[in-house]
Amino acid sequence: RVVLSVKDLTAEVDGSPILKGVNLEVRSGEIHAIMGPNGSGKSTFSKVLAGHPAYEVTGGEVLFEGENLLEMEPEERARAGVFLAFQYPLEIPGVSNLDFLRVAYNSRRKEQGLEELDSFDFDDLIQEKLDVVKMNPAFLSRSVNEGFSGGEKKRNEILQMAILEPKVAILDETDSGLDIDALKIVAGGVNQLASPENSTILITHYQRLLNYIVPDYVHVMAEGRIIKSGSKELALELESRGYDWVLAQAEVGV
Ligand code: ADP
Ligand code: MG
Ligand code: MG
Repeated sequence: RVVLSVKDLTAEVDGSPILKGVNLEVRSGEIHAIMGPNGSGKSTFSKVLAGHPAYEVTGGEVLFEGENLLEMEPEERARAGVFLAFQYPLEIPGVSNLDFLRVAYNSRRKEQGLEELDSFDFDDLIQEKLDVVKMNPAFLSRSVNEGFSGGEKKRNEILQMAILEPKVAILDETDSGLDIDALKIVAGGVNQLASPENSTILITHYQRLLNYIVPDYVHVMAEGRIIKSGSKELALELESRGYDWVLAQAEVGV
């Protein structure tokens, strides 16, 4: 079952074309890794999927479960089950992590036609999810991400994902400061949460991350397009040979 279908997607920022015809099809149960050189458009792609206002879609289409994702407001996308980590505000002073998660969770429940959980039932749920990320419960009473270290923010991101149970999770590991512990947190969370009912798009330039998460497909993005797709072996090949040979094959940038 195709969950996300991207066809000939083009987008620009401040009048400069960045995405130049992205094609991608993601089925239920799949993990896709998108790799590629710096500046190739990976983060732009995830921001366009999130509905970031700075990015203007100039052509193509994105269907999420058959619906036009590009017509949906960012919040609607989230409620419908598209999870984009950075869509959630980085820091929200004065709002506890627990309250934030409960509100986000209940708005997703409403969308699914389910009843909201009261704080007692939500407490039970969250205790269970804290185990997935091995997070100290003390983080629940702190303001969202305020003063969290990079690793703690990552853990919180995976906690948000565990609570919201998205149909498609798009994770852009932009933070080049991601240390080995943070990599393991992301990997552990993604692996535990992956199921036949959901899909994951993992944008990364760390081949290392794919030692912990085994993708079904690996794509290389360059100059605003996916120029090569393959199986998990492609990531290993990129690790040993770099990107140049792929770019040469696709006659991009050389
Ligand atoms: P990647 O994530 O693959 O490293 P990005 O999507 O961040 O690549 O960037 C792709 C290109 O788009 C780069 O050349 C970058 O400078 C440009 N770009 C991205 N965001 C903006 C922006 N807000 N304003 C101007 N240029 C941008
Ligand atoms: Mg799976
Ligand atoms: Mg990026």
